[in-house]
Amino acid sequence: MPWELPRDLDTPALVVDLDTLEANVASMAADLGARGVALRPHAKTHKSLEIARRQRAAGAAGLTVATLGEAEVFADGGFDDVFVAYPVIADGPKRRRIAALAERIRLRVGVESPEAAALIGGALGPASGLEVLVELDSGHHRTGVRPADAPGVAAACAAAGLDVVGVFTHPGHAYAAPGCPDGAARDEDAALAAGALALARAGFEARVRSGGSTPTARLVAGGGDGAAGEAATVTEQRPGSYVFNDRIQQALGSAAGGDVALAVATTVVSVSRPGCFVVDAGSKALSLDHVDFLEGFGEVWGWQGAVVTRLSEHHGIVEAPARRPAVGEVVAVVPNHVCPVVDHFDHYVVVRRGRVVDRWPVDARGRLR
Ligand code: PLP
Repeated sequence: MPWELPRDLDTPALVVDLDTLEANVASMAADLGARGVALRPHAKTHKSLEIARRQRAAGAAGLTVATLGEAEVFADGGFDDVFVAYPVIADGPKRRRIAALAERIRLRVGVESPEAAALIGGALGPASGLEVLVELDSGHHRTGVRPADAPGVAAACAAAGLDVVGVFTHPGHAYAAPGCPDGAARDEDAALAAGALALARAGFEARVRSGGSTPTARLVAGGGDGAAGEAATVTEQRPGSYVFNDRIQQALGSAAGGDVALAVATTVVSVSRPGCFVVDAGSKALSLDHVDFLEGFGEVWGWQGAVVTRLSEHHGIVEAPARRPAVGEVVAVVPNHVCPVVDHFDHYVVVRRGRVVDRWPVDARGRLR
């Protein structure tokens, strides 16, 4: 994060550096484009129409979201090709909402159980032809079925009148520790290949083989056409965090300090206790996301070893810093994980070369359903 904070910020503030954001958007699009892999960025990271427009202008083929609520926001904002990469249970109000979305945009949905397939089919009516992707577990052990079980889910989808267009997986075990992304990328590739093969044997063509995480996006090979011998090829990637990056991406080696486009600007409110200082960004700004391989919840940029080690709702406590700022000083904290941090703010303060140039709303903030 070699960029400057502007003066006169009302803190805590979600600050995004436009030069770095633009570079991140362009480089992922160029890398995947050069390998013939479609980019369908996960918009749950930024939740912003403005950033999604920039991703689209750089060549993104559609968007990924986590919830119907996010899909609705992006559909309202003019995005007509959206993949809900989540096992949607189309019951209750979601029956009406998924049907309304399917009518107005090209909607794709993730499915990993016969029950969910039947509910989506029931919500949309017989032979709706809604495009679905079977979710595979590539090693994260969250949702998704084993590749060998994909045909059973696909058959349930077909019976519910849905169109099985492929398979997808999130290799979230890339985040287990530094050193894990390489193995997770191999698992991702292997699971998509095995799932596609199992589906082919059952008479389903998996023309979409969608992988997705920032740490693995650049590691997984691509570029084939899915012809014989190339069923392993990933056709699409869904990275999200790459637009901003964070402490975790740096620790995993998927981003360098210069790729960090987002920080929480926060004011020093107390130096009363010796050996520490306190800032006005607490858990409601920085989130409680914590990983075993990093100390604390965020790092004060440019202050070596100054880590936010404790949080209460409105206080971030930086213990044992090498030096202490003065009360009133504004510092930039690079959070552990950007996605939940963004959801705590209603707008971004957009800066270029240390000056505020815009404010963008976090349009899909709080769209958990
Ligand atoms: N796809 C799915 C299903 C996800 O859950 C996520 C992140 O959680 C992503 C893609 C994007 O991953 P990342 O945040 O590593 O960019």
